Amino acid sequence: MQAYEKFINYALPYWDDTEIEGITDTIRSNWWSRGPKTAAFEERFAKSVGAKYAIAMNSCTAGLHIALMAHGIGEGDEVIVPDITFCASANTVIHAGARPILVDILEETGLIDPAAIEAAITPKTKAIVPVHYSGQACDMEAIERIAKEHNLVIIEDAAHAVYTTYKGTPIGGLGHTASFSFYATKNLATSEGGMLTTDNEEVANKARVLSLHGMSRNAWNRYAKGGSWFYEVEYAGYKYNMTDLQASLGLAQMDKLEKMQAIRDKYAKFYDKVIDGIEGIEHLKTMDYGRHAWHLYGIKIDETKLNINRDKFIEELTALNIGTSVHFIPVHLHPLYRESFGYKQGDFPHAEHYFSQILSIPLYPSMTEGEINYVAEALQFLAAKYAKCCG
Ligand SMILES: *Cc1c(COP(=O)(O)O)cnc(C)c1O
Repeated sequence: MQAYEKFINYALPYWDDTEIEGITDTIRSNWWSRGPKTAAFEERFAKSVGAKYAIAMNSCTAGLHIALMAHGIGEGDEVIVPDITFCASANTVIHAGARPILVDILEETGLIDPAAIEAAITPKTKAIVPVHYSGQACDMEAIERIAKEHNLVIIEDAAHAVYTTYKGTPIGGLGHTASFSFYATKNLATSEGGMLTTDNEEVANKARVLSLHGMSRNAWNRYAKGGSWFYEVEYAGYKYNMTDLQASLGLAQMDKLEKMQAIRDKYAKFYDKVIDGIEGIEHLKTMDYGRHAWHLYGIKIDETKLNINRDKFIEELTALNIGTSVHFIPVHLHPLYRESFGYKQGDFPHAEHYFSQILSIPLYPSMTEGEINYVAEALQFLAAKYAKCCG
């Protein structure tokens, strides 16, 4: 099989002139930091997910850190985090002064296992951080039941979950505090950026103050006519606010979210159908309880059926000009978590087995039909090339 004519990235942003016009307009407006566009983006985002409050951040990581702090989680507390996630889900627990307690996942979906949450609860447990991995909601009913029974806070890592729903309700609208990511590769991108959503007024107020130096409310507006020069510092806060340059991208992206998601959905269904016909490659299971945002499209290489492992499969795809990524290296295998928290190989067998098989293939709205067809053909070609048996 011939390599594709150019490299197919595993993820790229989707944009047109409206993003450029938004940025240009912001430059001309002289609101180069937080300003009216950030406020408008917050309002529009809150409405779109059905949350009472939305506070724009410079990243999802910042939003997770602030969410934990605003809920009063800190020294001596334990927070449950899935082992298959980006390091930020667990690192932010450390930033807040608490201890991350990693738990195993369900191999069919890569989502946190509610039974593993239940088994990890101690008298010190204060919160659960479910990660809506790949753009599919966790089993929120089960998680909410556990949280209620043990009086725990739920803080959703919604980095992959713009557009995701659970039983008809968008993530962000379930009544918990959530943090979304608008990093360059995410479904809705502002270069860097994030959004904390909550229905809790006290959490919202505290989060807003903490994200801007701990200065009293509305200090961002102090240089405008009608704004006040006076402010008071209530906490040793952070510099985590979004800027209007980022918000202008966010507003332009929100206008095309439905269109972008329709393409992701079409391409994901095409991949599903092709992969169902390939021996030795599996796709993740789609749950029927919600809308999948298809942030990632994960496939598993089954070494019992193919004479190739995941690492070598990635090399073969790279040689064909197809970009891939791995989501994720289990958190407990990183040196920090081994050395500081005593985790070791073998601690989470499902996460480790999942990690040995998984890779993410290209899926994004700016992919052409030619590119998506080529990736599908490459999977068929490699599965035939490395087939263990002839049937
Ligand atoms: C991308 C990502 C984050 C971090 O998002 P940033 O906006 O880059 O801080 C957190 N959690 C998960 C699961 C992610 O994929």
